[in-house]
Amino acid sequence: MPDGRHHHSRRGQRMDHFDPSELTQAFEQLMRTKRFNRLQEQSRSRSRTQSPAPMSPSPYNTPPHPSRAPPPPPTAAQSPTPSTPQPSSRSPLWGLPIVPAPPQDSASLKFRNLLHVLSVTPTKYENPGLLDEALALIPLDRLYSEAEEESQIFQAQAASVRGKAEWGYQDCVIRALLRWFKRSFFQFVNNPPCNRCFMPTIAQGMTPPTPDETARGATRVELYRCSEPTCGAPERFPRYSDVWQLLQTRRGRVGEWANCFSMFCRALGGRVRWVWNSEDYVWTEVYSEHQRRWVHVDACEDAWDQPRLYAEGWGRKMSYCVAFSIEGATDVTRRYVRSPAKHGAPRNRAPEEVLVWVIQEIRKKRRDNLGKTDLKRLTKEDDREERELRAYTTSALAAELNNILPRHSSSRLDEQKRQEAETEFLTTRRAGQSGPDRSSDGQ
Ligand SMILES: [Zn+2]
Repeated sequence: MPDGRHHHSRRGQRMDHFDPSELTQAFEQLMRTKRFNRLQEQSRSRSRTQSPAPMSPSPYNTPPHPSRAPPPPPTAAQSPTPSTPQPSSRSPLWGLPIVPAPPQDSASLKFRNLLHVLSVTPTKYENPGLLDEALALIPLDRLYSEAEEESQIFQAQAASVRGKAEWGYQDCVIRALLRWFKRSFFQFVNNPPCNRCFMPTIAQGMTPPTPDETARGATRVELYRCSEPTCGAPERFPRYSDVWQLLQTRRGRVGEWANCFSMFCRALGGRVRWVWNSEDYVWTEVYSEHQRRWVHVDACEDAWDQPRLYAEGWGRKMSYCVAFSIEGATDVTRRYVRSPAKHGAPRNRAPEEVLVWVIQEIRKKRRDNLGKTDLKRLTKEDDREERELRAYTTSALAAELNNILPRHSSSRLDEQKRQEAETEFLTTRRAGQSGPDRSSDGQ
């Protein structure tokens, strides 16, 4: 790894042929200097009893400029005495190596337990009876012929530019499933209509599940009352997490959508991940053999491969996005939060070292029964994905650098234009959609 001198020797050069690692280092150096200057200013103006900025549990909470907040330096100037839970100074978002460490404080243990509980969700799909029942509900002929047609279009498009088709047949099958699921199968429910007169209902809060609802997998039940004064009938909305039950009810919010749709992908033979976001949202990832990577799919939004939808499209701030599959778990936050400075929420549930440790623990548990060949394949896949995720960080850093260093005015403008166009696309896209339900628990 070169030292800071390379940074200076490159200063006058164009950005076109940058070396990612050098760029990262240059950026870190820049941020370190900035932070150092800021600290000096603070220590001059503040009394020594007050904590300096790095003591804040959230490095993202105290940006010098809210509009374009640079990230904190990953290692420099961190106080050694933070309170628990201890947010790590090393974030995987910045691509630095992390040495896994077991959870020790109670917050870390709690986070570990939560991740283990969540990790069970996709294992429930591995039930031949369930998958058969799901398959029987899918209009297979229709989806396969739609997929055939679409994949031929992709091939024709590719042939016209002598390139590779963007998506393969299997991807097109999932795309057809996505359309059918959203348009014909599953229903989005905010307030369920009255059972008796079909008029809208008004939320009354939560109510305990009946033994029957409990038996069918509902741990929470929302209570509503018919808005029609002459009726006024109560309406229960049990939140089922059991996929069998969802095949019957076919309605819900984001949680039910993502759970049921992920299972359907599995039924069609896809490799699937159920992605949990700590800010109360969930979605699906499907493995594309054609592109050799995990593809973001949001059934609620009819969104295919739009990982930037949440952060850049909706302006959501996210701290953790963890993908669970029958083969383990992966921290996929970097795929969804390209700019932690702008869209990252504080990752303070446990030190980063603990998160890595827990993810390894879940992987080990899920892969326990696999043979050597499969294990090797999965490890290779993990490495490839890690490179993919790291590349997102690198290009985000490049964009930040372009914005900070004034001499690249033309390329900065281009990048700005491109980002604006993309954000506009995502935002427009959002306008006509149902969106996550923020009025109550979205899951
Ligand atoms: Zn009614």
